[in-house]
Amino acid sequence: MSKTILVIAEHSDGKLRQVSYEAIQAAKLCTKKGDNIHIAILGYQITELANSISDESIEKIYVMDHPDLEQYNPESYVAGVNQLVELSSPEGIVLGHTAIGRDLAPIISASHDAGQISDVIKIETLENEVLFTRPIYAGKAFETKKFCSTPWVLTIRPNNIDTIEIKNGSIAIEKVEYSNPISLRATIQQVVRNTSGKVDLSEAKIVVAGGRGVKSQEGFKPLQELADLLGGAVGASRGACDADYCDYSLQIGQTGKVVTPEIYIACGISGAIQHVAGMSQSKVIIAINKDRDAPIFKIADFGIVGDLFTVVPMLTEEFKQV
Ligand code: FAD
Repeated sequence: MSKTILVIAEHSDGKLRQVSYEAIQAAKLCTKKGDNIHIAILGYQITELANSISDESIEKIYVMDHPDLEQYNPESYVAGVNQLVELSSPEGIVLGHTAIGRDLAPIISASHDAGQISDVIKIETLENEVLFTRPIYAGKAFETKKFCSTPWVLTIRPNNIDTIEIKNGSIAIEKVEYSNPISLRATIQQVVRNTSGKVDLSEAKIVVAGGRGVKSQEGFKPLQELADLLGGAVGASRGACDADYCDYSLQIGQTGKVVTPEIYIACGISGAIQHVAGMSQSKVIIAINKDRDAPIFKIADFGIVGDLFTVVPMLTEEFKQV
């Protein structure tokens, strides 16, 4: 019997987020020939977004457009998603392991008595089962799980699953009216963006992160320059955030953001386990630290023992030549 997987797509600034394309790929890995993938896009004035998705595996895109869905709000989004779950009757629901996905997924799971596997970085499709791997114990170990019942809910860590090719195409788009606007107990009045640059830290392919070794707000400037040149984003350790060298929105780690870039450049970061929990899955880790015994070198692919205020500008100059 064929099954349906529903992907909850996220968007910002009028574009689908990269993690949404990765979630579609995750859904594809969970399906076989004859199965269906449905996409749910919730928001306000977002009808055009549906045109930015195209893949032969997608049967239908649900678009739910309503002012109550303009900003993420668990109350309105849960109501909207549950309405779409009724329509789609999926066996599985896939979301990004993002701030929204982490909030929404458990509520959706609880509403549908569904099992949930979170923060998945690898999906293996075997003949009769699909296996999901996720890091545990702050990235020190991995566990592989499978669902034993339906429905199920899956969240995937950004930047780990390949993405579907982005092309325009025609897929059946079904506009669904948000039928039961509820009286929201809390609403968002204002969103103040506090990002270090143009690239979203959690989706950046290159992250240049600074720690307490950066020593001041001013000290982050060479890191920002390098990140801008490489088209990346600046991140930070909690040490740097606590010292007020940068905003907490940049914090990476157990109690901050989890990032999985292609390249992670750690500048003046000692490599405490709580920091490593947020970046250990980066594809290539480059550490710059003046202490050759700093723990960060144990997980680094490349290490530079030196003063970051000398090394980072040198790297920037070198990359300018490329
Ligand atoms: P430090 O440990 O002080 O390291 C600074 C490094 O900079 C040193 O290795 C030093 O050799 C190097 N250095 C100094 N000057 C230079 C220079 N000029 N050039 C090159 N290198 C230089 N931390 C996080 O990052 N993220 C989290 O999410 C997080 N969550 C936590 C949760 C809990 C419950 C707890 C208890 C702690 C958490 N921490 C977290 C804090 C964590 O334990 C560390 O204290 C923190 O990561 C240290 O930050 P740091 O590496 O920047 O600073």
